[in-house]
Amino acid sequence: MENVIILGTGIAGLTAAIYTARANLNPLLISGPEDGGQLTLTTDVENFPGFPEGIQGPKLVEECRKQAERFGARFKIDIATEFVQKNGYHELVLESGERIQTRTLIIATGASARWLGLPSEKKYKGRGVTTCATCDGAFFKDKEVIVIGGGDSAMEEALFLTKFATKVTVIHRRDAFKASKIMQERFFQNEKCHVVWNNEVAEILGDGKTVKSVLLNNVINGTKTEFKCDGVFLAIGHVPNTSIFKRQLDLDDNGYLKADRFMKTNIPGVFAAGDVQDTRYRQAITAAGSGCQAALEAEKYLAEHGK
Ligand code: NDP
Repeated sequence: MENVIILGTGIAGLTAAIYTARANLNPLLISGPEDGGQLTLTTDVENFPGFPEGIQGPKLVEECRKQAERFGARFKIDIATEFVQKNGYHELVLESGERIQTRTLIIATGASARWLGLPSEKKYKGRGVTTCATCDGAFFKDKEVIVIGGGDSAMEEALFLTKFATKVTVIHRRDAFKASKIMQERFFQNEKCHVVWNNEVAEILGDGKTVKSVLLNNVINGTKTEFKCDGVFLAIGHVPNTSIFKRQLDLDDNGYLKADRFMKTNIPGVFAAGDVQDTRYRQAITAAGSGCQAALEAEKYLAEHGK
């Protein structure tokens, strides 16, 4: 029986690991499908305190992992596929078939990129359609690409893509970006960056092998236009990774885990941290902060219920 299992190895899970490891609770982390979480898919993190020159997302994750390991945190590459509530403890079934039991569980499974839900998007996934500029941007050297979205991610993806592409056009469904001022300023100052307002992507078109264009639908007047591009980058937000908990744990209407201000879910001994429960801030620093809170609460729970 484990004292603490942490699901997810993003910054929330890793911070929970540092705290529970330093409390001698010997935590076990299960990676999930995206080991290291969303920060591994970004480049410069400029707003994490302590790094005046910024730090690369993957580097930040790597350093946190080393810090957790230094205090005895253990890591397992596997995916939890089932959550079973037992009498006074919890059981997880892993993709490998292993079943593990734990007294406390910290869910830090994060959120994954949202897709438009078009059949053509599936058809061209990995063949011109992607959700990660950091991972796939280099394939679009001297090409023209579009980014769908209007938040900070869309700005960040677009700016990153200017390193490779000749032209980057953001397609946004409204006539104003949701992104922060500083990101918008950088976007509008970059001569490779363009924007098409009030349009949504209705279809992704290609020759069966790669993307050649998209069909845009003007949301104001319904006009359809074909827009030439070699790549489509989706940056339309994220969906929380909570599917295995939906029968036992309380979720909000958008599928986020409901946790109180002590990071407690509706099941005693089960805590939530990071983007899986954050509908408001979704920052690296808030994810880390909630990971710390969940760890301290798990420690308290174990002390009260006899470790
Ligand atoms: P957001 O939820 O902030 O933005 C999503 C964008 O996608 C919105 O503009 C939204 O449009 C648009 N959108 C959503 N669904 C669709 C759809 N089906 N079709 C077309 N457009 C759609 O997500 P982000 O990933 O951009 O950001 C998440 C959080 O991470 C934010 O808190 C952000 O500040 C943070 N972040 C910070 C960064 C930084 O500081 N450097 C970098 C990246 C992210 P609409 O505006 O109409 O709702």
